[in-house]
Amino acid sequence: MPVAGYFMVPATERGATIQTFLYCLISASTAVALAVGIRKHRPEPSSTWWLFVAGQVMYTAGDVTYYVASQDDASYPPAANLLYLSQYVLVAVGLVRLIRRRSPQRNTAALVDTAILAVGAAVLWWVFLIHPTVTAPDINILDRIAATAYPVMDLCVLTVAIRLMLSGGVRQRAYHLLLAFLGMNLFGDTTYGLLTLTGSFEDGNWPDAFWLLGYVALGAAGLHPSMRHVGDPADVRSGATPYRVVLLGFATAMAPAVLVVQNLRGAAKSDLVVVGASGVLFLLVLMRMAGLIAVQRRLAITDALTGLYTRRFLSEQLRVEGERVARSGGSSALLLLDVDHFKCVNDTYGHPAGDQVLAEVARRLSTTCRASDVVARFGGEEFAVLTTATDPENLAVLAERIRTRMSESPVLVDGRTPVAITVSIGGVAALPPQALTADDLVNTADAALYAAKRGGRDRVVIGDLEDRTEPAAVHRDALSDLDRRIQDWAAVVAEAASRRPDAVPVPAGAVSAVCAAWAVMLSPSRERPAMTQDLARAELRRCRGVQFPSHIVDQFLALVATGEIGNPAPASAAEDVPVAVPA
Ligand code: GH3
Ligand code: MG
Ligand code: MG
Repeated sequence: MPVAGYFMVPATERGATIQTFLYCLISASTAVALAVGIRKHRPEPSSTWWLFVAGQVMYTAGDVTYYVASQDDASYPPAANLLYLSQYVLVAVGLVRLIRRRSPQRNTAALVDTAILAVGAAVLWWVFLIHPTVTAPDINILDRIAATAYPVMDLCVLTVAIRLMLSGGVRQRAYHLLLAFLGMNLFGDTTYGLLTLTGSFEDGNWPDAFWLLGYVALGAAGLHPSMRHVGDPADVRSGATPYRVVLLGFATAMAPAVLVVQNLRGAAKSDLVVVGASGVLFLLVLMRMAGLIAVQRRLAITDALTGLYTRRFLSEQLRVEGERVARSGGSSALLLLDVDHFKCVNDTYGHPAGDQVLAEVARRLSTTCRASDVVARFGGEEFAVLTTATDPENLAVLAERIRTRMSESPVLVDGRTPVAITVSIGGVAALPPQALTADDLVNTADAALYAAKRGGRDRVVIGDLEDRTEPAAVHRDALSDLDRRIQDWAAVVAEAASRRPDAVPVPAGAVSAVCAAWAVMLSPSRERPAMTQDLARAELRRCRGVQFPSHIVDQFLALVATGEIGNPAPASAAEDVPVAVPA
Protein backbone atom coordinates (compact mmCIF):
# COMPACT_ATOMS: atom_id res chain seq x y z
CA MET A 1 0.00 0.00 0.00
CA PRO A 2 2.55 2.65 1.02
CA VAL A 3 4.72 1.65 -1.95
CA ALA A 4 1.75 2.03 -4.33
CA GLY A 5 1.00 5.41 -2.69
CA TYR A 6 4.59 6.49 -3.35
CA PHE A 7 4.17 5.94 -7.10
CA MET A 8 0.73 7.59 -7.26
CA VAL A 9 1.98 10.96 -6.02
CA PRO A 10 1.76 13.53 -8.92
CA ALA A 11 5.08 14.59 -10.50
CA THR A 12 5.02 18.18 -9.24
CA GLU A 13 7.52 19.95 -6.99
CA ARG A 14 5.20 19.46 -4.02
CA GLY A 15 4.68 15.85 -5.09
CA ALA A 16 8.45 15.25 -5.04
CA THR A 17 8.60 16.47 -1.44
CA ILE A 18 5.73 14.17 -0.47
CA GLN A 19 7.49 11.28 -2.24
CA THR A 20 10.70 12.01 -0.35
CA PHE A 21 8.79 12.08 2.92
CA LEU A 22 6.99 8.81 2.10
CA TYR A 23 10.26 7.12 1.08
CA CYS A 24 12.00 8.06 4.34
CA LEU A 25 8.92 7.06 6.34
CA ILE A 26 8.82 3.55 4.82
CA SER A 27 12.58 3.15 5.31
CA ALA A 28 12.41 4.28 8.96
CA SER A 29 9.33 2.22 9.77
CA THR A 30 11.24 -0.85 8.59
CA ALA A 31 13.77 -0.24 11.37
CA VAL A 32 10.93 0.21 13.86
CA ALA A 33 9.20 -3.00 12.65
CA LEU A 34 12.45 -4.92 13.08
CA ALA A 35 12.96 -3.58 16.61
CA VAL A 36 9.36 -4.44 17.57
CA GLY A 37 9.82 -7.95 16.11
CA ILE A 38 13.02 -8.51 18.10
CA ARG A 39 11.31 -7.46 21.35
CA LYS A 40 8.30 -9.62 20.65
CA HIS A 41 9.80 -12.80 19.21
CA ARG A 42 13.20 -12.78 20.96
CA PRO A 43 15.25 -14.46 18.18
CA GLU A 44 18.61 -16.12 18.83
CA PRO A 45 21.03 -14.55 18.11
CA SER A 46 19.26 -11.22 18.48
CA SER A 47 22.50 -9.41 17.58
CA THR A 48 21.97 -10.37 13.93
CA TRP A 49 18.62 -8.62 13.85
CA TRP A 50 19.95 -5.60 15.74
CA LEU A 51 22.63 -5.32 13.02
CA PHE A 52 19.81 -5.22 10.44
CA VAL A 53 18.10 -2.49 12.49
CA ALA A 54 21.35 -0.51 12.62
CA GLY A 55 21.77 -0.96 8.87
CA GLN A 56 18.26 0.29 8.22
CA VAL A 57 18.79 3.31 10.48
CA MET A 58 21.97 4.13 8.54
CA TYR A 59 20.10 3.82 5.27
CA THR A 60 17.33 6.12 6.44
CA ALA A 61 19.90 8.62 7.68
CA GLY A 62 21.58 8.39 4.27
CA ASP A 63 18.24 9.11 2.56
CA VAL A 64 17.56 12.14 4.76
CA THR A 65 21.10 13.46 4.21
CA TYR A 66 20.77 12.98 0.46
CA TYR A 67 17.40 14.70 0.18
CA VAL A 68 18.42 17.63 2.39
CA ALA A 69 21.68 18.15 0.46
CA SER A 70 20.03 17.74 -2.96
CA GLN A 71 17.74 20.72 -2.23
CA ASP A 72 20.54 23.18 -3.00
CA ASP A 73 23.30 21.12 -4.63
CA ALA A 74 23.14 18.76 -7.66
CA SER A 75 26.17 16.68 -6.65
CA TYR A 76 25.90 13.61 -4.43
CA PRO A 77 26.79 14.29 -0.76
CA PRO A 78 29.69 12.02 0.36
CA ALA A 79 28.14 11.69 3.84
CA ALA A 80 25.02 10.11 2.29
CA ASN A 81 27.21 7.63 0.42
CA LEU A 82 29.04 6.66 3.61
CA LEU A 83 25.76 6.16 5.47
CA TYR A 84 24.26 4.14 2.61
CA LEU A 85 27.38 1.97 2.27
CA SER A 86 27.58 1.27 6.00
CA GLN A 87 24.23 -0.52 5.69
CA TYR A 88 25.83 -3.11 3.38
CA VAL A 89 28.58 -3.78 5.90
CA LEU A 90 26.11 -4.15 8.79
CA VAL A 91 23.82 -6.44 6.77
CA ALA A 92 26.76 -8.57 5.60
CA VAL A 93 28.09 -8.96 9.17
CA GLY A 94 24.57 -9.86 10.37
CA LEU A 95 24.26 -12.51 7.64
CA VAL A 96 27.66 -13.99 8.49
CA ARG A 97 26.59 -14.34 12.13
CA LEU A 98 23.39 -16.01 10.96
CA ILE A 99 25.30 -18.48 8.78
CA ARG A 100 27.65 -19.40 11.63
CA ARG A 101 24.68 -20.05 13.82
CA ARG A 102 22.74 -22.07 11.25
CA SER A 103 25.71 -24.21 10.18
CA PRO A 104 28.32 -24.23 12.94
CA GLN A 105 30.17 -27.19 11.37
CA ARG A 106 32.73 -26.69 8.67
CA ASN A 107 31.16 -27.10 5.24
CA THR A 108 33.83 -26.93 2.55
CA ALA A 109 31.43 -28.00 -0.21
CA ALA A 110 29.11 -25.04 0.49
CA LEU A 111 32.09 -22.68 0.59
CA VAL A 112 33.42 -23.86 -2.77
CA ASP A 113 29.94 -23.69 -4.34
CA THR A 114 29.53 -20.17 -2.97
CA ALA A 115 32.88 -19.18 -4.46
CA ILE A 116 31.91 -20.62 -7.88
CA LEU A 117 28.60 -18.74 -7.95
CA ALA A 118 30.20 -15.54 -6.65
CA VAL A 119 32.98 -15.60 -9.26
CA GLY A 120 30.37 -16.19 -12.01
CA ALA A 121 28.38 -13.18 -10.75
CA ALA A 122 31.53 -11.08 -10.37
CA VAL A 123 32.37 -11.54 -14.07
CA LEU A 124 28.93 -10.19 -15.04
CA TRP A 125 29.11 -7.28 -12.61
CA TRP A 126 32.63 -6.39 -13.67
CA VAL A 127 31.95 -6.38 -17.38
CA PHE A 128 28.56 -4.66 -17.39
CA LEU A 129 28.68 -2.42 -14.31
CA ILE A 130 31.95 -1.98 -12.47
CA HIS A 131 34.34 -1.59 -15.40
CA PRO A 132 32.09 0.88 -17.28
CA THR A 133 31.68 2.88 -14.04
CA VAL A 134 35.42 2.94 -13.35
CA THR A 135 36.17 4.13 -16.89
CA ALA A 136 33.15 6.45 -17.36
CA PRO A 137 34.07 9.95 -18.58
CA ASP A 138 33.12 13.21 -16.83
CA ILE A 139 32.78 11.96 -13.23
CA ASN A 140 34.78 13.40 -10.37
CA ILE A 141 36.96 11.03 -8.40
CA LEU A 142 34.74 10.91 -5.26
CA ASP A 143 31.60 10.08 -7.22
CA ARG A 144 33.54 7.49 -9.22
CA ILE A 145 34.72 5.77 -6.03
CA ALA A 146 31.22 5.83 -4.57
CA ALA A 147 29.60 4.59 -7.78
CA THR A 148 32.09 1.70 -7.88
CA ALA A 149 31.66 0.90 -4.19
CA TYR A 150 27.94 0.09 -4.56
CA PRO A 151 28.24 -2.81 -7.02
CA VAL A 152 31.28 -4.08 -5.12
CA MET A 153 29.33 -4.07 -1.85
CA ASP A 154 26.39 -5.65 -3.65
CA LEU A 155 28.68 -8.48 -4.73
CA CYS A 156 29.88 -8.96 -1.13
CA VAL A 157 26.33 -9.14 0.23
CA LEU A 158 25.33 -11.42 -2.66
CA THR A 159 28.20 -13.77 -1.82
CA VAL A 160 27.16 -13.97 1.84
CA ALA A 161 23.52 -14.45 0.81
CA ILE A 162 24.49 -17.33 -1.51
CA ARG A 163 26.40 -18.95 1.35
CA LEU A 164 23.30 -18.55 3.53
CA MET A 165 21.11 -20.20 0.90
CA LEU A 166 23.53 -23.12 0.48
CA SER A 167 23.81 -23.81 4.19
CA GLY A 168 20.50 -25.64 4.65
CA GLY A 169 18.46 -25.17 7.81
CA VAL A 170 14.99 -23.92 8.67
CA ARG A 171 13.33 -22.09 5.78
CA GLN A 172 10.16 -20.48 6.99
CA ARG A 173 8.39 -17.26 6.01
CA ALA A 174 10.87 -14.88 7.73
CA TYR A 175 13.82 -16.56 6.01
CA HIS A 176 12.20 -16.10 2.59
CA LEU A 177 11.27 -12.49 3.36
CA LEU A 178 14.87 -11.80 4.35
CA LEU A 179 16.06 -13.22 1.04
CA ALA A 180 13.41 -11.15 -0.76
CA PHE A 181 14.84 -8.03 0.89
CA LEU A 182 18.37 -8.92 -0.26
CA GLY A 183 17.15 -9.71 -3.78
CA MET A 184 15.14 -6.48 -4.11
CA ASN A 185 18.05 -4.43 -2.85
CA LEU A 186 20.33 -6.07 -5.39
CA PHE A 187 17.83 -5.46 -8.23
CA GLY A 188 17.34 -1.86 -7.13
CA ASP A 189 21.07 -1.14 -6.99
CA THR A 190 21.78 -2.89 -10.28
CA THR A 191 19.05 -1.14 -12.26
CA TYR A 192 20.09 2.12 -10.62
CA GLY A 193 23.71 1.53 -11.69
CA LEU A 194 22.73 0.64 -15.27
CA LEU A 195 20.34 3.61 -15.58
CA THR A 196 22.97 5.96 -14.18
CA LEU A 197 25.51 4.71 -16.74
CA THR A 198 23.10 5.59 -19.53
CA GLY A 199 22.19 8.89 -17.78
CA SER A 200 18.50 7.99 -17.52
CA PHE A 201 18.00 7.68 -13.75
CA GLU A 202 15.72 10.11 -11.92
CA ASP A 203 14.34 10.02 -8.39
CA GLY A 204 11.03 8.18 -8.40
CA ASN A 205 12.19 5.75 -11.13
CA TRP A 206 11.43 2.07 -10.79
CA PRO A 207 14.63 1.18 -8.87
CA ASP A 208 12.82 2.95 -6.02
CA ALA A 209 10.11 0.31 -6.25
CA PHE A 210 12.66 -2.48 -5.70
CA TRP A 211 14.21 -0.68 -2.72
CA LEU A 212 10.85 0.11 -1.15
CA LEU A 213 9.53 -3.45 -1.64
CA GLY A 214 12.79 -4.68 -0.13
CA TYR A 215 12.20 -2.57 3.00
CA VAL A 216 8.66 -3.87 3.29
CA ALA A 217 9.95 -7.46 3.01
CA LEU A 218 12.61 -6.82 5.66
CA GLY A 219 10.09 -5.25 8.04
CA ALA A 220 7.68 -8.14 7.46
CA ALA A 221 10.51 -10.63 8.13
CA GLY A 222 11.14 -8.91 11.46
CA LEU A 223 7.49 -9.00 12.46
CA HIS A 224 6.83 -12.60 11.41
CA PRO A 225 6.96 -15.11 14.32
CA SER A 226 9.17 -17.48 12.30
CA MET A 227 11.99 -14.93 12.57
CA ARG A 228 12.75 -16.66 15.90
CA HIS A 229 13.88 -19.77 14.00
CA VAL A 230 15.97 -18.19 11.26
CA GLY A 231 19.10 -18.74 13.38
CA ASP A 232 18.30 -22.35 14.34
CA PRO A 233 21.24 -24.72 13.75
CA ALA A 234 20.93 -27.18 10.87
CA ASP A 235 22.65 -30.37 9.76
CA VAL A 236 25.46 -30.05 7.23
CA ARG A 237 24.30 -31.30 3.84
CA SER A 238 26.66 -32.51 1.14
CA GLY A 239 24.21 -30.75 -1.21
CA ALA A 240 25.09 -31.83 -4.75
CA THR A 241 21.40 -31.68 -5.75
CA PRO A 242 20.59 -31.58 -9.49
CA TYR A 243 19.29 -28.03 -9.02
CA ARG A 244 22.58 -26.93 -7.53
CA VAL A 245 24.60 -28.67 -10.25
CA VAL A 246 22.64 -26.79 -12.93
CA LEU A 247 23.22 -23.50 -11.09
CA LEU A 248 26.94 -24.21 -10.80
CA GLY A 249 26.99 -25.09 -14.50
CA PHE A 250 25.51 -21.69 -15.35
CA ALA A 251 28.03 -19.93 -13.12
CA THR A 252 31.01 -21.67 -14.70
CA ALA A 253 29.65 -20.89 -18.19
CA MET A 254 29.38 -17.19 -17.28
CA ALA A 255 32.91 -16.19 -18.28
CA PRO A 256 32.85 -17.60 -21.86
CA ALA A 257 29.21 -16.45 -22.26
CA VAL A 258 30.27 -12.88 -21.52
CA LEU A 259 32.91 -13.10 -24.27
CA VAL A 260 30.26 -14.32 -26.72
CA VAL A 261 27.91 -11.43 -25.83
CA GLN A 262 30.74 -8.91 -26.18
CA ASN A 263 31.60 -10.41 -29.58
CA LEU A 264 28.01 -10.20 -30.78
CA ARG A 265 27.72 -6.59 -29.63
CA GLY A 266 31.08 -5.67 -31.14
CA ALA A 267 32.05 -4.29 -27.72
CA ALA A 268 35.56 -4.11 -26.31
CA LYS A 269 36.49 -7.51 -24.89
CA SER A 270 37.57 -8.19 -21.31
CA ASP A 271 39.89 -11.03 -22.28
CA LEU A 272 42.16 -10.85 -19.24
CA VAL A 273 39.31 -10.78 -16.75
CA VAL A 274 37.52 -13.63 -18.50
CA VAL A 275 40.69 -15.75 -18.72
CA GLY A 276 41.48 -15.05 -15.03
CA ALA A 277 37.92 -15.86 -13.92
CA SER A 278 37.86 -19.04 -16.04
CA GLY A 279 41.12 -20.17 -14.40
CA VAL A 280 39.73 -19.56 -10.92
CA LEU A 281 36.45 -21.31 -11.79
CA PHE A 282 38.36 -24.27 -13.22
CA LEU A 283 40.33 -24.64 -9.98
CA LEU A 284 37.19 -24.31 -7.86
CA VAL A 285 35.40 -26.98 -9.90
CA LEU A 286 38.44 -29.27 -9.47
CA MET A 287 38.33 -28.67 -5.71
CA ARG A 288 34.64 -29.50 -5.66
CA MET A 289 35.21 -32.71 -7.62
CA ALA A 290 38.02 -33.74 -5.28
CA GLY A 291 35.69 -33.11 -2.32
CA LEU A 292 32.89 -35.19 -3.86
CA ILE A 293 35.28 -38.05 -4.63
CA ALA A 294 36.57 -37.96 -1.04
CA VAL A 295 32.98 -38.07 0.30
CA GLN A 296 32.07 -41.00 -1.97
CA ARG A 297 35.19 -42.89 -0.95
CA ARG A 298 34.49 -42.29 2.72
CA LEU A 299 30.91 -43.53 2.26
CA ALA A 300 32.14 -46.62 0.40
CA ILE A 301 34.49 -47.70 3.16
CA THR A 302 32.43 -46.65 6.19
CA ASP A 303 29.64 -48.67 7.74
CA ALA A 304 26.65 -46.36 8.21
CA LEU A 305 25.44 -47.74 11.56
CA THR A 306 28.73 -48.07 13.42
CA GLY A 307 31.09 -45.70 11.61
CA LEU A 308 33.65 -48.54 11.38
CA TYR A 309 35.27 -49.68 8.15
CA THR A 310 33.25 -51.96 5.87
CA ARG A 311 34.08 -55.58 5.19
CA ARG A 312 35.09 -54.61 1.66
CA PHE A 313 37.72 -52.24 3.03
CA LEU A 314 38.95 -54.90 5.45
CA SER A 315 39.35 -57.38 2.58
CA GLU A 316 41.37 -54.82 0.65
CA GLN A 317 43.55 -54.16 3.72
CA LEU A 318 44.06 -57.88 4.24
CA ARG A 319 45.34 -58.15 0.68
CA VAL A 320 47.64 -55.14 1.05
CA GLU A 321 48.85 -56.44 4.40
CA GLY A 322 49.60 -59.85 2.88
CA GLU A 323 51.68 -58.20 0.16
CA ARG A 324 53.52 -56.06 2.69
CA VAL A 325 54.40 -59.05 4.86
CA ALA A 326 55.52 -61.07 1.81
CA ARG A 327 57.72 -58.15 0.68
CA SER A 328 59.27 -56.94 3.90
CA GLY A 329 58.42 -59.46 6.61
CA GLY A 330 56.62 -58.70 9.82
CA SER A 331 53.55 -60.23 11.33
CA SER A 332 49.83 -59.78 11.06
CA ALA A 333 46.90 -60.77 13.18
CA LEU A 334 43.16 -60.88 12.83
CA LEU A 335 40.45 -61.00 15.47
CA LEU A 336 36.82 -61.85 14.67
CA LEU A 337 34.27 -60.92 17.28
CA ASP A 338 30.62 -61.94 17.50
CA VAL A 339 28.06 -60.62 19.97
CA ASP A 340 26.59 -63.52 21.97
CA HIS A 341 22.88 -64.23 21.72
CA PHE A 342 22.33 -61.03 19.83
CA LYS A 343 19.09 -62.24 18.30
CA CYS A 344 17.75 -62.24 21.81
CA VAL A 345 18.62 -58.56 22.26
CA ASN A 346 16.62 -57.76 19.11
CA ASP A 347 13.71 -59.92 20.18
CA THR A 348 13.56 -58.54 23.70
CA TYR A 349 14.26 -54.86 23.20
CA GLY A 350 13.49 -54.36 19.50
CA HIS A 351 15.62 -53.86 16.41
CA PRO A 352 16.36 -50.15 17.01
CA ALA A 353 17.68 -51.03 20.47
CA GLY A 354 19.79 -53.74 18.82
CA ASP A 355 21.21 -51.07 16.53
CA GLN A 356 22.16 -48.93 19.52
CA VAL A 357 23.90 -51.90 21.11
CA LEU A 358 25.86 -52.52 17.90
CA ALA A 359 26.91 -48.88 17.72
CA GLU A 360 28.10 -49.01 21.33
CA VAL A 361 29.97 -52.30 20.74
CA ALA A 362 31.70 -50.60 17.79
CA ARG A 363 32.59 -47.59 19.96
CA ARG A 364 34.03 -49.76 22.73
CA LEU A 365 35.92 -51.83 20.18
CA SER A 366 37.55 -48.93 18.39
CA THR A 367 38.47 -47.16 21.63
CA THR A 368 40.13 -50.33 22.93
CA CYS A 369 42.22 -50.87 19.79
CA ARG A 370 45.16 -48.82 18.55
CA ALA A 371 44.60 -46.08 16.00
CA SER A 372 46.69 -48.04 13.49
CA ASP A 373 44.47 -51.15 13.74
CA VAL A 374 41.80 -51.65 11.09
CA VAL A 375 38.52 -52.09 12.95
CA ALA A 376 35.68 -53.19 10.69
CA ARG A 377 32.11 -54.41 10.81
CA PHE A 378 32.44 -57.88 9.36
CA GLY A 379 28.71 -58.61 9.07
CA GLY A 380 25.50 -58.13 11.10
CA GLU A 381 26.77 -58.39 14.70
CA GLU A 382 30.27 -59.52 13.82
CA PHE A 383 33.31 -57.31 13.91
CA ALA A 384 36.95 -57.67 12.88
CA VAL A 385 40.26 -56.18 13.96
CA LEU A 386 43.31 -56.39 11.73
CA THR A 387 46.43 -55.57 13.68
CA THR A 388 50.16 -55.77 13.01
CA ALA A 389 53.31 -56.69 14.86
CA THR A 390 51.53 -59.02 17.25
CA ASP A 391 52.37 -62.59 18.37
CA PRO A 392 49.67 -64.99 19.63
CA GLU A 393 50.29 -64.09 23.29
CA ASN A 394 49.93 -60.35 22.73
CA LEU A 395 46.95 -60.96 20.51
CA ALA A 396 45.28 -62.95 23.29
CA VAL A 397 45.93 -60.07 25.68
CA LEU A 398 44.34 -57.60 23.28
CA ALA A 399 41.38 -59.89 22.67
CA GLU A 400 40.89 -60.44 26.39
CA ARG A 401 40.96 -56.68 26.94
CA ILE A 402 38.25 -56.26 24.31
CA ARG A 403 36.16 -59.06 25.78
CA THR A 404 36.30 -57.58 29.30
CA ARG A 405 35.56 -54.10 28.01
CA MET A 406 32.37 -55.34 26.35
CA SER A 407 30.97 -57.11 29.40
CA GLU A 408 32.21 -54.89 32.26
CA SER A 409 29.19 -52.58 32.05
CA PRO A 410 25.81 -52.99 30.36
CA VAL A 411 24.98 -50.94 27.28
CA LEU A 412 22.38 -48.28 28.05
CA VAL A 413 19.64 -48.33 25.43
CA ASP A 414 17.73 -45.06 24.98
CA GLY A 415 19.88 -43.76 27.83
CA ARG A 416 18.03 -45.79 30.46
CA THR A 417 17.53 -49.53 29.74
CA PRO A 418 20.66 -51.54 30.65
CA VAL A 419 21.39 -54.42 28.27
CA ALA A 420 24.15 -56.77 29.37
CA ILE A 421 26.22 -58.15 26.53
CA THR A 422 29.10 -60.53 26.08
CA VAL A 423 31.17 -61.30 23.01
CA SER A 424 33.04 -64.32 21.73
CA ILE A 425 36.35 -63.70 20.00
CA GLY A 426 38.39 -65.85 17.67
CA GLY A 427 41.82 -64.77 16.57
CA VAL A 428 44.89 -65.73 14.63
CA ALA A 429 48.39 -64.30 14.53
CA ALA A 430 50.72 -65.10 11.67
CA LEU A 431 54.44 -64.82 12.23
CA PRO A 432 56.95 -65.20 9.41
CA PRO A 433 57.63 -67.47 7.68
CA GLN A 434 54.05 -68.71 7.97
CA ALA A 435 51.98 -68.55 4.83
CA LEU A 436 49.71 -65.59 5.01
CA THR A 437 46.84 -65.22 2.66
CA ALA A 438 43.73 -63.31 3.52
CA ASP A 439 41.75 -66.55 3.33
CA ASP A 440 44.14 -68.30 5.74
CA LEU A 441 43.68 -65.58 8.30
CA VAL A 442 39.91 -65.32 7.96
CA ASN A 443 39.30 -69.08 7.95
CA THR A 444 41.49 -69.71 10.98
CA ALA A 445 40.05 -66.78 12.95
CA ASP A 446 36.56 -67.93 12.00
CA ALA A 447 37.31 -71.47 13.21
CA ALA A 448 38.61 -70.04 16.49
CA LEU A 449 35.50 -67.89 16.89
CA TYR A 450 33.38 -70.93 16.28
CA ALA A 451 35.37 -72.74 18.97
CA ALA A 452 34.82 -69.83 21.36
CA LYS A 453 31.08 -70.07 20.76
CA ARG A 454 31.03 -73.76 21.35
CA GLY A 455 33.24 -73.34 24.39
CA GLY A 456 30.39 -71.50 26.08
CA ARG A 457 30.64 -67.95 24.61
CA ASP A 458 32.03 -64.87 26.37
CA ARG A 459 35.56 -66.12 25.75
CA VAL A 460 38.63 -65.81 23.55
CA VAL A 461 40.19 -68.53 21.44
CA ILE A 462 43.35 -67.96 19.45
CA GLY A 463 43.64 -70.36 16.52
CA ASP A 464 46.77 -71.92 15.08
CA LEU A 465 47.62 -71.38 11.42
CA GLU A 466 49.72 -74.54 11.23
CA ASP A 467 46.97 -76.77 12.45
CA ARG A 468 43.84 -75.82 10.62
CA THR A 469 41.10 -77.85 9.04
CA GLU A 470 37.85 -76.87 7.46
CA PRO A 471 35.57 -76.59 10.47
CA ALA A 472 32.42 -76.19 8.50
CA ALA A 473 32.97 -79.38 6.52
CA VAL A 474 33.96 -81.50 9.53
CA HIS A 475 31.09 -80.45 11.72
CA ARG A 476 28.31 -79.77 9.27
CA ASP A 477 26.40 -82.97 9.96
CA ALA A 478 26.80 -82.81 13.72
CA LEU A 479 25.77 -79.19 13.70
CA SER A 480 22.64 -79.69 11.66
CA ASP A 481 21.71 -82.45 14.07
CA LEU A 482 22.20 -80.08 17.02
CA ASP A 483 20.25 -77.37 15.24
CA ARG A 484 17.31 -79.68 14.69
CA ARG A 485 17.34 -80.60 18.38
CA ILE A 486 17.39 -76.92 19.42
CA GLN A 487 14.45 -76.23 17.10
CA ASP A 488 12.51 -79.15 18.58
CA TRP A 489 13.09 -77.81 22.10
CA ALA A 490 12.07 -74.34 21.01
CA ALA A 491 8.80 -75.68 19.62
CA VAL A 492 8.13 -77.55 22.89
CA VAL A 493 8.83 -74.41 24.99
CA ALA A 494 6.67 -72.18 22.78
CA GLU A 495 3.82 -74.65 22.84
CA ALA A 496 4.00 -75.09 26.64
CA ALA A 497 4.21 -71.32 27.17
CA SER A 498 1.12 -70.71 25.05
CA ARG A 499 -0.85 -73.20 27.18
CA ARG A 500 -0.20 -71.36 30.46
CA PRO A 501 -3.16 -69.41 31.86
CA ASP A 502 -1.06 -66.22 32.08
CA ALA A 503 0.33 -66.76 28.55
CA VAL A 504 2.08 -63.79 26.96
CA PRO A 505 3.41 -63.75 23.39
CA VAL A 506 6.72 -65.65 23.17
CA PRO A 507 9.33 -64.21 20.75
CA ALA A 508 10.61 -67.14 18.69
CA GLY A 509 14.19 -65.82 18.58
CA ALA A 510 14.36 -65.49 22.35
CA VAL A 511 13.18 -69.08 22.80
CA SER A 512 15.79 -70.39 20.33
CA ALA A 513 18.49 -68.36 22.07
CA VAL A 514 17.72 -69.96 25.46
CA CYS A 515 17.66 -73.41 23.87
CA ALA A 516 20.95 -72.76 22.05
CA ALA A 517 22.61 -71.49 25.21
CA TRP A 518 21.50 -74.64 27.01
CA ALA A 519 22.86 -76.87 24.26
CA VAL A 520 26.22 -75.10 24.24
CA MET A 521 26.60 -75.30 28.00
CA LEU A 522 25.88 -79.01 28.03
CA SER A 523 28.22 -79.83 25.10
CA PRO A 524 31.85 -80.64 25.91
CA SER A 525 34.58 -79.01 23.87
CA ARG A 526 38.34 -79.18 23.72
CA GLU A 527 38.70 -76.21 26.08
CA ARG A 528 36.34 -77.40 28.75
CA PRO A 529 34.16 -80.30 29.68
CA ALA A 530 30.37 -80.11 29.46
CA MET A 531 28.68 -78.30 32.35
CA THR A 532 26.51 -80.29 34.69
CA GLN A 533 22.78 -79.64 34.40
CA ASP A 534 22.89 -77.98 37.84
CA LEU A 535 25.55 -75.52 36.73
CA ALA A 536 23.77 -74.85 33.42
CA ARG A 537 20.50 -74.22 35.29
CA ALA A 538 22.27 -71.77 37.60
CA GLU A 539 23.82 -70.04 34.61
CA LEU A 540 20.44 -69.65 32.90
CA ARG A 541 18.94 -68.24 36.09
CA ARG A 542 21.79 -65.75 36.24
CA CYS A 543 20.90 -64.52 32.75
CA ARG A 544 17.19 -64.40 33.61
CA GLY A 545 15.80 -60.93 32.86
CA VAL A 546 19.20 -59.73 31.70
CA GLN A 547 20.18 -61.71 28.64
CA PHE A 548 16.97 -63.72 28.28
CA PRO A 549 13.34 -62.82 29.08
CA SER A 550 12.48 -64.18 32.55
CA HIS A 551 9.25 -65.95 31.60
CA ILE A 552 10.97 -67.88 28.83
CA VAL A 553 13.78 -69.03 31.14
CA ASP A 554 11.17 -70.09 33.72
CA GLN A 555 9.19 -72.04 31.15
CA PHE A 556 12.36 -73.63 29.83
CA LEU A 557 13.59 -74.70 33.27
CA ALA A 558 10.16 -76.08 34.10
CA LEU A 559 10.40 -78.34 31.03
CA VAL A 560 13.94 -79.37 31.99
CA ALA A 561 12.63 -80.32 35.42
CA THR A 562 9.96 -82.58 33.89
CA GLY A 563 12.59 -84.18 31.65
CA GLU A 564 10.97 -82.97 28.42
CA ILE A 565 14.21 -81.18 27.59
CA GLY A 566 17.45 -82.96 28.29
CA ASN A 567 21.03 -83.14 27.10
CA PRO A 568 21.79 -81.97 23.62
CA ALA A 569 23.87 -83.61 21.03
CA PRO A 570 25.46 -86.79 19.82
CA ALA A 571 29.12 -87.07 20.81
CA SER A 572 30.48 -86.12 17.37
CA ALA A 573 29.18 -82.56 17.70
CA ALA A 574 31.15 -82.12 20.87
CA GLU A 575 34.47 -82.49 19.08
CA ASP A 576 35.85 -79.12 18.26
CA VAL A 577 38.00 -77.62 15.57
CA PRO A 578 41.71 -77.74 16.27
CA VAL A 579 42.63 -74.65 18.21
CA ALA A 580 45.51 -73.62 20.39
CA VAL A 581 44.48 -71.88 23.56
CA PRO A 582 47.11 -69.58 25.03
CA ALA A 583 48.06 -70.29 28.61
P1 GH3 B 1 25.37 -66.34 18.89
O1 GH3 B 1 26.14 -65.45 18.00
O2 GH3 B 1 25.73 -66.22 20.31
O3 GH3 B 1 25.39 -67.76 18.43
O4 GH3 B 1 23.84 -65.93 18.85
P2 GH3 B 1 23.17 -64.81 17.99
O5 GH3 B 1 21.79 -64.59 18.49
O6 GH3 B 1 24.04 -63.62 17.99
O7 GH3 B 1 23.10 -65.53 16.61
P3 GH3 B 1 23.23 -65.03 15.15
O8 GH3 B 1 24.63 -64.65 14.85
O9 GH3 B 1 22.64 -66.11 14.28
O10 GH3 B 1 22.26 -63.79 15.08
C1 GH3 B 1 22.67 -62.58 14.68
C2 GH3 B 1 21.50 -61.66 14.72
O11 GH3 B 1 21.93 -60.33 14.54
C3 GH3 B 1 20.50 -61.93 13.62
C4 GH3 B 1 20.09 -60.58 13.12
O12 GH3 B 1 18.73 -60.37 13.34
C5 GH3 B 1 20.86 -59.62 13.99
N1 GH3 B 1 21.39 -58.50 13.23
C6 GH3 B 1 22.21 -58.55 12.16
N2 GH3 B 1 22.48 -57.31 11.73
C7 GH3 B 1 21.80 -56.45 12.53
C8 GH3 B 1 21.67 -55.03 12.57
O13 GH3 B 1 22.24 -54.28 11.79
N3 GH3 B 1 20.89 -54.49 13.54
C9 GH3 B 1 20.23 -55.30 14.43
N4 GH3 B 1 19.48 -54.71 15.35
N5 GH3 B 1 20.32 -56.64 14.40
C10 GH3 B 1 21.10 -57.21 13.47
MG1 MG C 1 26.73 -63.91 14.17
MG1 MG D 1 26.01 -63.52 17.62
